[in-house]
Amino acid sequence: MPRIRPTRRRHLPATDFDAVIVGGGSAGLSAALTLGRCCRRVLVCSSGPPRNAPSPGVHSFFTRDGTKPAELLRLGRQQLAAYPTVSLREALVTAIVWEPEEQYFTLTMTPDRGGPPLTCTTRKVLLATGVADDLPPIDGMRELWGRGVLHCPYCHGWEVQGQRLAVYGRGKTGWGLVQLVSRWSRDVVLCTDGPAGITEHGRQRLRRLGIAVREEKIVRLEGRRDGQLRHIVFASGEPLERDAVFLHAEQRQRSLLAQEANCRILKSGAVWTDKRGQTSQKGIYAAGDTTPAPQQAIIAAAEGSLAAIALNEALTREDCRG
Ligand SMILES: Cc1cc2nc3c(=O)[nH]c(=O)nc-3n(C[C@H](O)[C@H](O)[C@H](O)COP(=O)(O)OP(=O)(O)OC[C@H]3O[C@@H](n4cnc5c(N)ncnc54)[C@H](O)[C@@H]3O)c2cc1C
Repeated sequence: MPRIRPTRRRHLPATDFDAVIVGGGSAGLSAALTLGRCCRRVLVCSSGPPRNAPSPGVHSFFTRDGTKPAELLRLGRQQLAAYPTVSLREALVTAIVWEPEEQYFTLTMTPDRGGPPLTCTTRKVLLATGVADDLPPIDGMRELWGRGVLHCPYCHGWEVQGQRLAVYGRGKTGWGLVQLVSRWSRDVVLCTDGPAGITEHGRQRLRRLGIAVREEKIVRLEGRRDGQLRHIVFASGEPLERDAVFLHAEQRQRSLLAQEANCRILKSGAVWTDKRGQTSQKGIYAAGDTTPAPQQAIIAAAEGSLAAIALNEALTREDCRG
């Protein structure tokens, strides 16, 4: 089949790529697919596992419900092989520099396999670098993360419905999450690991829902070898038998690239974008968990596609300038 090759205009900067995507999770691979189909020269640089790597399956992803996280991304990469203008590299991007004279970005990256740092030039950049979860420093939390310790009932509530559940958290966060989780089980306990920080009115509402509150300090979580939770052990009082615990962990950006490029960062730590994924820095786009949108793999993929369309349209406007 004859291939349409993008024409090079004299007024455009000569760069290695039209777009470099930093991060090869759902957001990054989905953006690469859209841009590959626009005949754009794209490089996807990714280093490290996706956020959901400890989880046995990606749920709520249309047509892929329950697929292993690594398999979802393998399929994504496999489908990109059909697009000859898309390349993938396992490398950590360490710097993004705008070159005002040349009107392009230079990126520096360290290959995962070792060897000296590499650079490349590109007209646009898409940050799809995701977030990291900082779990409370309680023995057993990290070991059970993704199986007995869960971050989101929309992703995992179905799998533990009707089971003995707990929610970890204080104040409004714990109070809100425990009510949400009560949708999936009538046996839910709120464990606040210290004073609950809930008003009398809030406590009354929990009592009406049959949700007990345990304010004792938590010493450790005990689980099975397969990562399922067995007990929550307190500094005082009886251990609590539970099958799973939900919590909203603290989050931080996986990468400081957006901050270093002076992109606007919101109080929550998320990278601000307009409705189409453009950050406050011209030519730099962001998609996926990096942005303030709800954090789900399918939403990240949709945001990647949306940002890729905006990015392609910006490139097209530049291409078509006389
Ligand atoms: C335990 C757990 C289970 C989950 N389960 C579900 C579920 O069942 N269903 C669901 O819809 N969602 C689930 N999620 C949420 C889901 O993981 C995220 O919404 C999704 O991974 C976001 O995709 P992303 O592409 O934005 O980021 P990620 O998937 O995290 O991908 C970002 C990638 O960028 C790489 N990267 C970061 N910085 C750089 C850099 N400087 N250079 C190169 N590469 C870099 C990272 O290493 C990573 O590989 C779960 C999350 C967790 C924590």
